[in-house]
Formats: sequence, structure tokens, C-alpha cells
Amino acid sequence: MNWLERQVHSQPDAVALYFEESSWTWAQLEIRVRRMAAALTHSVQVAGGIRGARIATLMHSSPDYIVTILAVQWAGATLVPINTRLTAREISWMLNNIEADLLVLDHQTAERFYDSADATLDLQTTRFVQVEELTFSLDVEPADFRAREAALIMYTSGTTGLPKPVELSWENVASSAFASAVVLGLEARDNWLCALPLFHIGGLSIVFRCLIYGIPLTLLEKFDEQRVADAIIKHNITLASFVPTMLHRLRGILPEVNHLRAVLLGGGPAPKELVEWAWESGIPVFQTYGLTEAGSQVTTMPPKRALEKIGSAGIAVFGADVQVRRLNMSLAAPNEPGHIWIRGSMVMRGYLGRATENERRFDGSWFDTGDFGYLDDDQFLWVLSRRDDLIITGGENVYPAEVENVILAFEGVDQAAVFGQEDGTWGELVCVALVAKDGVELDLEALEAHCRKNLAGFKVPRRWLVLEELPQTSSGKVRRHELKKL
Ligand code: AMP
Ligand code: MG
Ligand code: MG
Repeated sequence: MNWLERQVHSQPDAVALYFEESSWTWAQLEIRVRRMAAALTHSVQVAGGIRGARIATLMHSSPDYIVTILAVQWAGATLVPINTRLTAREISWMLNNIEADLLVLDHQTAERFYDSADATLDLQTTRFVQVEELTFSLDVEPADFRAREAALIMYTSGTTGLPKPVELSWENVASSAFASAVVLGLEARDNWLCALPLFHIGGLSIVFRCLIYGIPLTLLEKFDEQRVADAIIKHNITLASFVPTMLHRLRGILPEVNHLRAVLLGGGPAPKELVEWAWESGIPVFQTYGLTEAGSQVTTMPPKRALEKIGSAGIAVFGADVQVRRLNMSLAAPNEPGHIWIRGSMVMRGYLGRATENERRFDGSWFDTGDFGYLDDDQFLWVLSRRDDLIITGGENVYPAEVENVILAFEGVDQAAVFGQEDGTWGELVCVALVAKDGVELDLEALEAHCRKNLAGFKVPRRWLVLEELPQTSSGKVRRHELKKL
């Protein structure tokens, strides 16, 4: 049965979506979804019809976006969410690369990519429509649901290299949602706040969790500290997901409320100090490790051990397995850093049309995440860095997150990103880009002394850059390869 249809039959009058001052019940959402599915069916002009068609979206978070996502599922098509921050060249490349059948824009992206002369999309097979113009009075019955069919194609944002299309099936999406509920539990009063963009797996997976669990989704147009705080109070939010930079920006603003029962924190390394601050402030944060290729969560901190294991990304979620391997593929010992491999019901079958990459990254059903870390004696995962971010200086491994943790504990430092730069003598040199807190003049000598006291000499940065801000992807990851060029 279609997932939305199931909620409509189970609880037609329960609220499914909150956005700004409005809300929609499951039954109200269904009416819009049926019409949208009909409009999309009418707009996709491909021989085989809409079933299995690739429908790309280039939209900002809004109720229309939610309706579009649900309508794509309703029609039996595949959703291809595109990052709105990309350039016309990057977007055109992606849509041509996977031969998308239809592109759905909102008025902002239509204005930006069609009405302005200098940034027009150059599409080969893709028709386009503007979501506000998709009015259709007829409606359609839901396509019969097949678990193995492609639900989503998402390009990994990638901090290096060309983006790769990740294909996730409905089964992958469902497994991910079930596994999340097993760790965090599910309560009748649950309401999940989404301030993450819907074009990344972190945000989109919230939509599917709410749809499967039958709980309301509270959607914000974008992340804004004050709006997050207000929404948490106004809507009795119980669950939320943030990337570390967001949680950092929420310091001093996030209210301490009893109803907020779990905040998932993932998408990148979280400074230990940030997690400690959160718990001290009564915010129950659970670190989680995930990636687009696995439909989001792979490991999550079990609530009962969160305080004891601050800094760990937790234990493999139900249905997932994690291994840490040496370069020669043998298993690393407990606490020995190595390459993180995963497998499970939420892991993608492969990158679409990337045979060589799939060959390289898969060993049977095991997938090489490209991340570095270790499993401790209790099988808790500690993520050290992206393999590409690992710095090798004079033959020693330096994990940026470890150095960043020390630097962030220094008074006056707001943000820090540690990266390597090529060096004739050392192979790579440890460098750091810093952002000071507002109005603070950083004492770099004292900061260096602080590092010498807390870190082995080879880990202490040799180059110190003070910047106004760090270059970041829209999912909050620092673009270290851009720093390398500074
Ligand atoms: P993406 O491919 O954009 O979904 O991002 C996934 C990547 O984010 C992973 O491969 C990791 O490098 C990083 N990441 C996610 N969660 C964590 C975490 N808890 N700690 C460190 N890095 C993380
Ligand atoms: Mg991402
Ligand atoms: Mg990735």
C-alpha cells in the first residue's frame, strides 16, 4: 500500500505537516498529493509513462516540496532532489548525466535559472515545470508499491571530486526509518523538526520517517536559530536533527524544554566540547554517523550510554553492520584505526552507471565508506576523519577532528578546520583555518602553546590562518580542499 494512503486510512484527521502558521492533516495532504501526481503524470511526456520516470526537484523547503515528494511516490516515479545552491552549470551536468525526465522548480529557482540571462540551465532530455503552476483538477490512484524500485537518486554532495548518483530503493528508505525508530523509540506525541535542506539525505530522511511512523513533520523554510527555538516551543517538538554547525549556532538560544527527547547530531564530526555543552544544558544529543549511500543513519548513540561515550558516533543501527579494515582488507583489532566498511538493508545497491567506482568501493555487499575510524571494545564507532582529510606528516597520521577539538577548547575560537598542505620535507604540513568569536583578537602564540600542551608535536599546526568564515557545503561540511589552496 502507498505510505500516504496508509496514514490517510489510519488517521485521516491527525496533523501531518506544520509550516509557519499553517498545518495539514493526512487527508488534506492526500488531496493535494493526488492532484500533484496527476499534474506530474500529465507533464512527464515519456513513452512508458510516469512509472519509473526520473523527476528532479530544484526547490526550497516548503509544503509544495513535501507534496511533490509524496506525489512522486504516489505516481511510482523516482525523485531526484537537487541542491539549490549549485550553479546552472553543475545542475545541468547532473540532470543531463542521469537523463532526468522532468524538473520541478519553485518560483525562486525558476526566477534564478530561467528568468535571468546569465544562469540558464542547459538541459538535453529534461522538460521543466514550475510547481506553483501545477494545478490539475483531476486526480490519480496511487501506483502499486514495489520495494525494490528506485525511490531516490541523490548526488553525494562530495567535498572532493565529481558528484556521484546514489540510487536508493524504497526498501532502503524504509529500512533506514525502521532502524532509526528502534534506537530512538517512537511515541504518540512525537513531532520531528526539520531545519535541514530536503535535497540532502539528512532532511529528506525525516520526511520519510514521519510518513512511515505517522507523526507530524514540522518544516522550516531554512535554518534560523530563533525560528528553530520558537518552533521547538510552539509545536512541542520531541525530535530534531542538526549538523554540528547548527547546534553550535544554537548555543544560548535553544530552550531547555522537557518535551525535546532526542536531537540527532550528525553529518560531520562534532567537537566533543559541543556535545558536552549540550548535555550540560539539558539538550539530549545523540551523535549519529551516516551517509547518503546508506539513506542516512548507519550508527547512532544508544541513549543509555550517551554520556559515557561522548565523541563516539554510537553503535550500528538495526540491520546495519560496521567493520573497520586495514588496507590489506584484514579486520582491524578493537581500537585500531582503519577504513570504515558498512553493509545492510539501507545501503544502496550502487552508484548509478558508475561500474568502475562500484567495483572499487564494494566487496560483495560490503561498502567502503571512505571514512577512517575505529570500533572500541563495545563495538562503538569512533569516526576520525574522511580518508581524504587524513593528514600524513613525516609518516605520522593526523586526524583533523582531534586537533580541532583541542583548538576549539581555547577561549575565543569560534570555528576551526584543520587540513594538510603539500610540503617537500614532511609530505604534508598540518595547517588550520580559524574563525574567532565576534570581536575577539586571537592570541596565536598562546593558542599554539595550548596545542603543544595537549597534542603530540607532529599534530600541532604549522600554519595558522584566521578567516572571516570557513568555506562550507550546504550540509555543513567544511570544504577542506578549498582551504588547501589558500
Ligand atoms: P554525505 O555523503 O554528504 O551524506 O556525507 C556523509 C559523510 O559525512 C560521511 O562519509 C562522513 O565523512 C561524514 N559524517 C557523517 N556523520 C559523521 C559523524 N558523526 N562524524 C564524522 N563524520 C561524519
Ligand atoms: Mg551531504
Ligand atoms: Mg559522501
